[in-house]
Amino acid sequence: MKNNKIITYKDKLIREKSIEVKGIDNGIKDIIKDMNYIMDKHNGIGLAAVQIGVLKRIISIDLTKHEDDELIKPLKVDLINPVILSTAQRTEYAEEGCLSVPGKRGEVLRHFWVEVEGYTLDGEHFHKKLYDLAARVAQHEIDHLNGVLFIDKVKEEKNIKKGENITI
Ligand SMILES: [Zn+2]
Repeated sequence: MKNNKIITYKDKLIREKSIEVKGIDNGIKDIIKDMNYIMDKHNGIGLAAVQIGVLKRIISIDLTKHEDDELIKPLKVDLINPVILSTAQRTEYAEEGCLSVPGKRGEVLRHFWVEVEGYTLDGEHFHKKLYDLAARVAQHEIDHLNGVLFIDKVKEEKNIKKGENITI
């Protein structure tokens, strides 16, 4: 594994804008493998490539461990060059955390749904409306690709209490 360190807000890299992926080769596949490994290891539900030090427009979302609504098939997807095409007018506050901002969490206003487009690892076109937590994670991760952190948008920053975690 090449990339196994989480880049935090203390590193200037986290504020850089990530670059569009031109083609899906083995290098990209390895990055995504590393991202999923790190996300699993830290019990995260989303990760952007910049968080492991790779300035490419790639995000991973994995709600399979956290989505307990049996009616909703939990989303698990790696997205290359994700773009938000449209958003719900309805917005909601909910608490977020971030592997790159250890020890902090806070309420962030997000759109209730977002229409997202991108490519999967197999090069397939992805185009879906994501709702609720999936929408929140997508907005949080796509923000990372533009150097934006949840602490820029948070209503009130809080320290994490022991035993709590929802880490986007
Ligand atoms: Zn984050």
